[in-house]
Amino acid sequence: MSLKFTVGDLTIHRIIEQETTFLPALELLPGLTPEVLAENRAWMQKAGALDDKDVLMLCFQSYVVKTPHHTILIDSCIGNDKPRPQRPKWNMKTDDTYMRGLAAAGFSVEDIDYVMCTHLHVDHVGWNTRLDNGRWIPTFPKARYVFDKTEFDYWTETHAKTPVPPFGDSVLPVVEAKQAEIVRSDYAIGDHTRILPTPGHTPGHVAFSFGRAKDDAVFSGDLMHSPLQTRYPELSVKFDVDQAQAAKTRRGFLERYCDTNTLCCTAHFPSPSVGKIRRAGSGFTCEAI
Ligand SMILES: [Zn+2]
Repeated sequence: MSLKFTVGDLTIHRIIEQETTFLPALELLPGLTPEVLAENRAWMQKAGALDDKDVLMLCFQSYVVKTPHHTILIDSCIGNDKPRPQRPKWNMKTDDTYMRGLAAAGFSVEDIDYVMCTHLHVDHVGWNTRLDNGRWIPTFPKARYVFDKTEFDYWTETHAKTPVPPFGDSVLPVVEAKQAEIVRSDYAIGDHTRILPTPGHTPGHVAFSFGRAKDDAVFSGDLMHSPLQTRYPELSVKFDVDQAQAAKTRRGFLERYCDTNTLCCTAHFPSPSVGKIRRAGSGFTCEAI
């Protein structure tokens, strides 16, 4: 399995926390019909994206990008010791898979200069913090954590009405530790790292693009969850806050990168998770390289 990619002057590592069954395809994708699922079952199973009970397989991972100047971690996965009673596989986890993956890629927590979150959902912020003597502290002691302002404001407001546990245990402690940078979409790090607003899944969802003056790699976060959505960009997942906007964003993103050399690094597609966007009929594919 490929865990390391080189493109331009970037080195990209995948840090996998889990690769496992998630939800039935027909449940996660409310617009999917049994007929369309049947037409696509064979290639989806071959790609490791669907099991024999029509349950979608997802990867849960971070990426670490090494630019000539910085080491940047994108999305911090699920995390340990966090109460997530609705998801048994994530609830009060104590395994060392993630930290072993980070070490195997050659990084310690001190090496991370930036943590960048595409959005603030539970499986993208988990390792932002770790439990230390009963309190949550930033896992990456030297990192600046980059959160989009629209996204941060949305969750601040939501959390004020009804507490959102991952915001409380994995985002706010970073702000309290003064390691957060709440940024707008014109934010960039040097000439290598940029933000691409991709709203719909959440109001402030962003993708990150990397590469000097051109997009050598793009990290798409949750603007899509399954390769089935590249073939049918109009299929939104039930967790997309604005399903119509998510569909529009998805098609726009796929069109933007279609038939380019940009490496598309998805959050949740099954391994290898990374590929180049190519046209396929009225949709697209993400072709492994
Ligand atoms: Zn996700």
